[in-house]
Amino acid sequence: MKIREALSELLGERYVAEASGGVDLGPVVHGERLHGGSGPVSLLAKPANTAEVVEVLKLAARFRWPVVPVGGRTGTVGGTETPTPSVLLSLERMNRIEEIDCAAMTVTAEAGVGLQTLQEAVESQGLVLPVDIGARGSATVGGVVSTNAGGLRAIRWGVTRDNVLGIEAVLADGTVIDGLRKLLKDNAGYDWKHLMIGSEGTLGIVTRAIFKLQQRSAPPATALLACSDFTSALALLRRLSAETGGRLTSFELSWREVYDLVAHSPDWNHRAPLAAGYPFYALVEIDGGDAMLGEVETILERLMADGLVVDGVLARSSRDCDDIWATRDDMSPLGRLGPIFAYDVSVPIDLMGELAERVARGVAEELPRARLFTFGHAGDGNLHFVIAPGHGRAGDASVADHVVFRETGALRGSISAEHGVGLHRLAALPYTRTPEELALMRTLKSALDPEGLLNPGKVVPPVAS
Ligand SMILES: Cc1cc2nc3c(=O)[nH]c(=O)nc-3n(C[C@H](O)[C@H](O)[C@H](O)COP(=O)(O)OP(=O)(O)OC[C@H]3O[C@@H](n4cnc5c(N)ncnc54)[C@H](O)[C@@H]3O)c2cc1C
Repeated sequence: MKIREALSELLGERYVAEASGGVDLGPVVHGERLHGGSGPVSLLAKPANTAEVVEVLKLAARFRWPVVPVGGRTGTVGGTETPTPSVLLSLERMNRIEEIDCAAMTVTAEAGVGLQTLQEAVESQGLVLPVDIGARGSATVGGVVSTNAGGLRAIRWGVTRDNVLGIEAVLADGTVIDGLRKLLKDNAGYDWKHLMIGSEGTLGIVTRAIFKLQQRSAPPATALLACSDFTSALALLRRLSAETGGRLTSFELSWREVYDLVAHSPDWNHRAPLAAGYPFYALVEIDGGDAMLGEVETILERLMADGLVVDGVLARSSRDCDDIWATRDDMSPLGRLGPIFAYDVSVPIDLMGELAERVARGVAEELPRARLFTFGHAGDGNLHFVIAPGHGRAGDASVADHVVFRETGALRGSISAEHGVGLHRLAALPYTRTPEELALMRTLKSALDPEGLLNPGKVVPPVAS
């Protein structure tokens, strides 16, 4: 019996389909480098529960077909691409929120639950899921856990890893590892879940997860503040953290080129909150601040008097708030520049300014006609560089990659702060991981997936020949 028939017999005909190069799965949200729809024919399989995931993995192992887990497909590094015929394992039918435990402040959900659906369910109980990302509408629990997503609340509550208490995962040979525990403290041996979190489907399939929750506070205060140099922006971050008693939930920094292009573009559908031309723009959000706008205003006035802020606007209405957030959420003018190369890197917070300068110098020297745009979750040391080469010369992409990764590596930063490695960032790993670290990754991969069937070719670089 061929694998297609075997899968249909197992799951039912309607839950198995042919998928050519991934295009049959629906539109891919735009990411760092879009890859086209040509490719080998794979099989899309949709199990309904963990037991069926186990049987799919056993079948795939028997037919020696790779298994590529698929969540909301919002990942930007080609993690769900299928260079060879594969079983695309979609967990979309595993979409049950199993329990919201208000006493323990936890939520247990299956891997196919959408992030936004989970957030809304939790909020209806007066609690907050600390994990939030821009792609919340499509991203899933399985994808978020498997990529260790960071996102908009990381400055206050950390990344996904900091908020997952337990997971259930299925190994390549079909073994179910049940680590669904609600324990904040648990030092009984290896904490294996942290191997799975962020492993992008290369070590196991995440089928269920328990997240810890936080108390919901009053709506935040939102402001856009202009600074005259990077040192002031960094001092502003520190002072705001201290003076708001740790309630700072966002500190998004845009360099002038980004704000001027985005907020003053004629086809941008929002009101520009501040004038163009300031060197830096910091979008800040303070939890619970809406109820005490007067207090926030006093803090901002003090920061202005001390010269850390040269101009600013505090949102007074939800429309103001939307306009301020649009400077980060609606970057459509960047997308209209033609081909762009986008990067998501991190360095220690105090080195962000130096990294930005080094990259700007490298781009000016090695891609003199290119335009560089810099912004990011600066409160987490996470910077995004967007390079618009301005013309279509072959080889520009690898020059841009080299500049950004070389400078990031030189400061002992990470070539991937949030988006993972997938397929597209594989070649860049040596900029950020030592040969010994890469060897350890290979050892772990071959221990957990000796046949190399789980999301092959992703995350773990082959040994150099
Ligand atoms: C507009 C936009 C904004 C974004 N903002 C952020 C952000 O702020 N922070 C951030 O960190 N990321 C962000 N991302 C990237 C992306 O949304 C995250 O990586 C997200 O966690 C991926 O979830 P997904 O369900 O779409 O996973 P997919 O894209 O479907 O898969 C991602 C990877 O996880 C694997 N995988 C999926 N499900 C499972 C599973 N159940 N078990 C094992 N492996 C699995 C896949 O094989 C793949 O390697 C953004 C993307 C977009 C398009």
